[in-house]
Amino acid sequence: MIDVDGHRWPNLCLMKLSAYHKARGDTVEWHDGRRRYDLVYMSRVFTDSYSKDFTGRIRADQIIRGGTGYGLSNRLPDDVEHTRPDYGIYPQFAGTAYGFLSRGCPRGCGFCIVGEKEGRKTVAVADLSEFWAGEKEIKLLDANLLACPDWERLLGQLAASGAMVDFTQGLDIRLMTPEKAAALNRVRTKMLHFAWDNPEDDLTPYFKQFLEWTSVKDCRKRRAYVLTNYGSTHEQDLYRIYTLRDMGYDPYVMVYEKSTAPPVTRRLQQWVNNKWFFRAVPDFNDFVPNWRRKQKGEGNEDRTSENGA
Ligand code: SF4
Repeated sequence: MIDVDGHRWPNLCLMKLSAYHKARGDTVEWHDGRRRYDLVYMSRVFTDSYSKDFTGRIRADQIIRGGTGYGLSNRLPDDVEHTRPDYGIYPQFAGTAYGFLSRGCPRGCGFCIVGEKEGRKTVAVADLSEFWAGEKEIKLLDANLLACPDWERLLGQLAASGAMVDFTQGLDIRLMTPEKAAALNRVRTKMLHFAWDNPEDDLTPYFKQFLEWTSVKDCRKRRAYVLTNYGSTHEQDLYRIYTLRDMGYDPYVMVYEKSTAPPVTRRLQQWVNNKWFFRAVPDFNDFVPNWRRKQKGEGNEDRTSENGA
């Protein structure tokens, strides 16, 4: 197995392939360039804009490449797709269940490949029991669960699990209803993620309304992605960030094709996503990048280093 661009997330495809092959009696291991294999799987999640391809030496009878980084058409065979992932290859992630209950999204956001890759309709693809076996935490990867006609049944499964659930992708705030919010309230929520990607959309009423329905009171658990460097101006980026914060959400800046982003957008991301900076410096104009380093250079200790953290 070669996890081409993984670092902070386990690669679900490789985990399923590993489980599938182990069940057949095959030996599975991470690729070692000094060894020869009969079959090597390479999985790459991101395209060239975000990650580099593997350039090491591979000696194998067969190499199978998969993942969005190698194209949108490759798919796991159905029996592999529905295999419980093997955490043996990622022991550091054991204890958390990663998976999808639904796939697809009806919205066709120009920067997003979900519609093309998974379809322009959200459909239920698995029950929770397919990838959850009593773990205390669930990281849900669904692109648009609230657009799924089976949302009630699927949210019910998450609630019944009693596990802490991180909705890692954006829940579509425009599709929120009192019924969906009530179903979400029954889930033990570690983190809700929303998104305000298009500055031309006024999502303020939706975000405000949700606050009246949700039982998640901690604003740090109500995170909202803000897409930048995709046709928005700096003022539009700031507007979404300030508005979300003022409403009681925790903005998180995503930069489209970061290598092309202007310095001010990179600085904005540094300010917003480092929550210590974001809370300590309320106005972006007062934010000095690399502030800590400068402080240390002047002989001052910052709070982080005082705490030894
Ligand atoms: S709503 Fe989200 S998942 Fe759907 S197309 Fe837009 S960015 Fe992609």
